[in-house]
Amino acid sequence: MNKEFYEIKNADRSCIALKKMSDSGFINGFTRRSGGVSRGKIEGFNFGFRVGDEPENVLENYKLLAEDMGFDIRRAVCARQTHTDNIRIVTSADCGKGIFQVDSDIRDTDGLITAERGVALIIFTADCVPLLLCDPVKKIAAASHAGWRGTAQNIGGKTVRLMREKFGCDPSDIIAAIGPSIGPCCFEVDRATAENFDEKYRIPKPNDKFHVDLWAANRDMIAAEGVRVGNIFVSEECTICNSDKYYSYRTHKEHTGRQVAFIAIK
Ligand SMILES: [Zn+2]
Repeated sequence: MNKEFYEIKNADRSCIALKKMSDSGFINGFTRRSGGVSRGKIEGFNFGFRVGDEPENVLENYKLLAEDMGFDIRRAVCARQTHTDNIRIVTSADCGKGIFQVDSDIRDTDGLITAERGVALIIFTADCVPLLLCDPVKKIAAASHAGWRGTAQNIGGKTVRLMREKFGCDPSDIIAAIGPSIGPCCFEVDRATAENFDEKYRIPKPNDKFHVDLWAANRDMIAAEGVRVGNIFVSEECTICNSDKYYSYRTHKEHTGRQVAFIAIK
């Protein structure tokens, strides 16, 4: 794990957070899978309502996380993520969507931005890349879901652009965290998928396969919007190499829960 991140432990649960984001006035983190109340097919600290877990267990995990991290679960917002580059600006009116109203109007959305204190943005993943961004000057928080499709569509760069256009953020003030997800060590794809990415992110393998570095691609696309490279932090934890700590779709298959990335302005 990158030393700019630190582990926060509560009972049998834990997450990692970016120090610089915490020090700048943002509750933030990426959960790990141990602890929590989910049992049976999906074991652990699962936040996915659509993976075959008991809804009351998922809700209890959300409540535990909110208590642990000091945000109000009634003010959390989740999108129905579908690997798009659609980003929604959310307010108090959206609180509870995706958690207390599982079928909400935030559909086909993979990025969330808020300017309101205490609104907790939640993105769930299992191998896909979670991005958290914040502007400590304008006090804006954002979270995006960047699987390979979202990365290829530059959802990270588009999140920065919206922060600038809608809230006047200066990209050079923005801090970004690229969370635990499938690393260049393990993300093997076929040629057609690899060709969605610039050659510098592809590592050719035998059998016409490629490894793709989604971390570097996201970092560079965020930097291309004016965020300082020194303000972009990659957790450097691969969910496949660390599938004991994280849910990994490629590893656990139908037993895969979802971890979350979360951010709120204090
Ligand atoms: Zn790996």
